[in-house]
Amino acid sequence: MASLYTIPIEELKGIGKNRSTLFARLGVHSVGQLLEYYPRTYEDWSSPISVSQIKDGETVCIRASVGTPVNTSRIKGGRLLSKLMVFDESGSVQLIYFNNKYINNMLEYGKTYYFYGKASRTLTGLQMIAPAFSKSADGGGIHPVYRQTEGLPNRIIASAVKQALGMLPQQINDPLPQALLSAFSLCDYRFALENIHFPHTADNLSKAKKRLICQELLILNLGMRSLKNQKRGETALKLNKTYTQEFEELLPYALTNAQKKAILECTQDMQNNIYPMNRLLQGDVGSGKTAVAAAVCYNAVQNGWQAAFMAPTEILAEQHYKSLSHLFSCTGIRMDILTGSLTPAQKKKAREKLKNGETQLVIGTHALLTDKTEFQKLGVAITDEQHRFGVSQRAGLLSKGDNPHLLVMSATPIPRTLGLIIYGDLDISILNELPPGRQKTDTLLINSALRPRAYRFIQEHIQKGQQAYIICPLVNENEQELAAAEEYAAELMLRTFPDIPVGILHGKMKAAEKEQMMRAFSSRELSLLVATTVIEVGVDVPNATIIMIENAERFGLSQLHQLRGRVGRGTEKSYCILVSDNTNPDTQHRLQTMCKTDNGFEIADEDLRQRGPGDFFGERQHGLPSLSIADFADTKSLETSSQMAEFILQNRSKFSEKELKSINSALKRLFREDGVKILN
Ligand code: ADP
Ligand code: MG
Repeated sequence: MASLYTIPIEELKGIGKNRSTLFARLGVHSVGQLLEYYPRTYEDWSSPISVSQIKDGETVCIRASVGTPVNTSRIKGGRLLSKLMVFDESGSVQLIYFNNKYINNMLEYGKTYYFYGKASRTLTGLQMIAPAFSKSADGGGIHPVYRQTEGLPNRIIASAVKQALGMLPQQINDPLPQALLSAFSLCDYRFALENIHFPHTADNLSKAKKRLICQELLILNLGMRSLKNQKRGETALKLNKTYTQEFEELLPYALTNAQKKAILECTQDMQNNIYPMNRLLQGDVGSGKTAVAAAVCYNAVQNGWQAAFMAPTEILAEQHYKSLSHLFSCTGIRMDILTGSLTPAQKKKAREKLKNGETQLVIGTHALLTDKTEFQKLGVAITDEQHRFGVSQRAGLLSKGDNPHLLVMSATPIPRTLGLIIYGDLDISILNELPPGRQKTDTLLINSALRPRAYRFIQEHIQKGQQAYIICPLVNENEQELAAAEEYAAELMLRTFPDIPVGILHGKMKAAEKEQMMRAFSSRELSLLVATTVIEVGVDVPNATIIMIENAERFGLSQLHQLRGRVGRGTEKSYCILVSDNTNPDTQHRLQTMCKTDNGFEIADEDLRQRGPGDFFGERQHGLPSLSIADFADTKSLETSSQMAEFILQNRSKFSEKELKSINSALKRLFREDGVKILN
């Protein structure tokens, strides 16, 4: 079987140079890859209806005979128009094809075919435009529909796949061990491949799907586990002594128990393990992750190491820099900031100070990751809001030192099953407790008619000395959208809140302007901030108590939850006002979820159900290999695949050499690299 991956697709009949280039565009180069190019969806040709049952506008399958010769004429623009009538015992339908010069050869007068397509009822009777067809003798069945590219129609892909299936050897190496298949009642590989492409029955199709989905998730799961176990070599970096107690004395508040536990887990990792810490800190918005990071940095620096703390945005990096500078002001710790917006000279200086060890704690953005940055003795690296960093970026940071300890922090609660895969290479600490004195943020859903009342509500709170955000969703942050946001802010400043200082913050502003705006807001010079989603992640202004979100329907739930997390960070009661005029019941239901719960995990589950996993990462890379059949939203299969992974790891000694090799090859194919190996 493995050898089919080395046979180029050109070996197939009817696939020449041109078509193989088109296949390459779909990511298919070899016959083996073609077999793994699973259909996007299926058309059910297995139960044709009679012509008299056709309803206007329906997509139907009929079995009918060609009742007239194909009549082809030329119409305006030189296009070809072909018409013919087909009939069964209950009635007739006119078929129309455009620009298909072969149609009269393909549809023979008097012969019977299956036709599949959309039917419409016109003044002159039933009509189908360009229906797909197959010879009646070939049977109805369930037809695969592949993702296509221009010049490579479904018909060609399907016929190539048919040939490829014919090339499967008598004995195929199943990527999964027989014992696993039996334990989880999964069908064998040949059956799966044949039936995923050309299923004989709906039942066979579902068996094939189940097997292939579980296989893909299993391989992914094993791959992520292996990263955890073998990616990292031993480390010589051991904490001699912990300084957490000393750190606590610097804080203006007492740590929550959850924070204490998380800090302890980190220091234990850094003290006791042969391997460096490789830990995820998950905590809902506002749970106080920054303090945990600060404690880890403090411990590192007091032990003579350097520490690097990375944030996904400049605003956030600057905010962390500011708050940690304040916290560590009387400790003598030498801190610096390194972001993309420094001048080249400033960057150079900052890098020098890292290289010669002058800087002990550096806060920065991705700029920290570039090759130019060298450390004298990097002991620990921390990344905030990890989902914005792909797995490879994580690895980039780790290459900076002598196998430093790693802590990644995420405020995006993700369902456990998905977490097992995405963070499969990390140990996990959870902050499941908010600092004391927090009140629940009330969330209201309103339509535009109530906006004036919302404005009055905001005004009242601002008059009491509190602050507010108004969020405008800009999809692209292009000129036009920015103009709309600026106009919106101007309108607020001039008419709605003439006496209130209003600022605007968007992604296209220069870093210095953003910083200035944020600084003005956090020092309360500004009472109201109109912002795009640049505010989404991590920004911390405890005096802000209201966030109003325009066009709330444009956001995913997890994103709304993040936005809402910008308020409710102090002791005053906070409010989140969602504005939407969208009356679609699904949208309303989705937004109501926000009003009902403030539990990040519940929201994440709901989001996963409704929108799939893309939203957890936005358009950002999550660094996982792309899947060809499975879906991260399929929690049931994720669960099964975890159990399967356990089964494999527990029974590894019972598998034959050949079985292990098959799993490893599948793993290499999915991760497209040789570094990942699970079982030796
Ligand atoms: P997040 O987990 O969302 O990153 P932050 O670290 O920004 O949360 O903390 C949110 C707010 O809570 C900050 O203003 C921080 O100073 C405050 N905070 C953190 N820990 C505590 C605590 N133990 N007691 C009181 N306030 C705390
Ligand atoms: Mg944070």
